[in-house]
Amino acid sequence: MLKKNYTNIDGMLHIGGLSVEYLRKKYGTPLYIYDQKLIKDTARAFRENFKSDIFASEVSFASKAGSNLYLLGLIKNEGLFLDTVSIGEMYIGMKAGFEPKKIHLHGNNKTKEELVFAIENKIGTIIIDSYEEFLFLEEILKEMDEKMDCLLRINPDVKTSTHKYIQTSNADSKFGINIRDEKIESYIKEMAQSQFVNLLGFHAHIGSQVMEVGFFEEEAKILFDFTKKMQDLTDQSFSHLNLGGGFGVRQNKNDKDFDLEKFLRDFAKIIEEKIKDYKLKITRVGIEPGRSMINQAGTTIYSVGSVKHTLEGLPLVFVDGGMSDNIRPSLYGAKYDALIANRLDDKNYEKFRVGGKFCESGDILIEETDLPYPKRGDILAIENTGAYSLAMSSNYNKLPKPTVVFVEDGKDYLAVKRETLDDLIKNDCEYKGE
Ligand SMILES: *Cc1c(COP(=O)(O)O)cnc(C)c1O
Repeated sequence: MLKKNYTNIDGMLHIGGLSVEYLRKKYGTPLYIYDQKLIKDTARAFRENFKSDIFASEVSFASKAGSNLYLLGLIKNEGLFLDTVSIGEMYIGMKAGFEPKKIHLHGNNKTKEELVFAIENKIGTIIIDSYEEFLFLEEILKEMDEKMDCLLRINPDVKTSTHKYIQTSNADSKFGINIRDEKIESYIKEMAQSQFVNLLGFHAHIGSQVMEVGFFEEEAKILFDFTKKMQDLTDQSFSHLNLGGGFGVRQNKNDKDFDLEKFLRDFAKIIEEKIKDYKLKITRVGIEPGRSMINQAGTTIYSVGSVKHTLEGLPLVFVDGGMSDNIRPSLYGAKYDALIANRLDDKNYEKFRVGGKFCESGDILIEETDLPYPKRGDILAIENTGAYSLAMSSNYNKLPKPTVVFVEDGKDYLAVKRETLDDLIKNDCEYKGE
């Protein structure tokens, strides 16, 4: 099992061998702390468990879950590929040292600028999202006299159990072409004959934070069925298959554990069997973990301010951050637990809400958690914030974005500096009057 490098020394939380008090003194709060060793271990777990003798496996990190030069440099060093959905993500990926051919471009509405950038920089594959986008891309490739390796995103119509905003496989989903669309065969026939688009195979991504292995098995079965059908239809064999990401993580104490390593081994076996059963010529199978690569490695620490008792509801502990550094609770009801990280041995728990400092009633980080009575100046830590919190951060209420630090074996590595007040206005233009 993958393990966090957390320890309790005299009641003080230590991450990667460093006390959170030391880190707060050095960097201030709010502070994102990443357990560097855990990210390396997780990347290796993906590579070592999702592998096979009959297909080449390709693990791409979905960079939207978290992307800064430091993190991507670390991921690149672990030999992974990179998924991007915009020109900015491709740009950062290349700046972090990824070879362009190890970068893939996704997205349901890629702009011409993004497609041209991908083609000019010889990005690995473009994942086409619709028939209309295929025509658009073909026209651009024709103009540039270029060819591009592509996958087509299929919506396999697998209904998962997660929040609506992170489901992607419903019949009304904005992603991919639905497998039940009656025109899909004629689309694929046309794409398979294109001089410019080299259709290598199919892609699907069923949603995010999916905890049941059965959904991925169902997805794999549907995609293999489909590939076989399309192979017969087009008289062409497809060499690539990509099954997306969405592997669940344990976010709070009520969540089940998701044994990632076992899941990956089982998943690779299922895929092998299907390739053999269907006698397919698939030589490369990809997966695209985002959340499961970095979520558990991230912890956010805050300083506690006031505690307020409202007429109804649990008392509120206020912290010096909130929805600008983690919008997930307000956006789709993500649930976390908190710790008073400088008093881990104080077990006189009461129930509290944790609220942020932003001018929105919805700025509640945690609706209910057990804490010893918090005091001003305590360190409140929220675990498992590594994915999609920093990535979705904003400057709402003009709060500078927090520092990001990586820790390993008693050393701290600054990854992103805290924004300054000047950073907040660096792109603003002054009103000069008439
Ligand atoms: C978001 C996304 C992923 C990663 O999802 P996680 O839930 O973070 O693992 C992978 N592939 C595609 C196409 C995505 O849009």
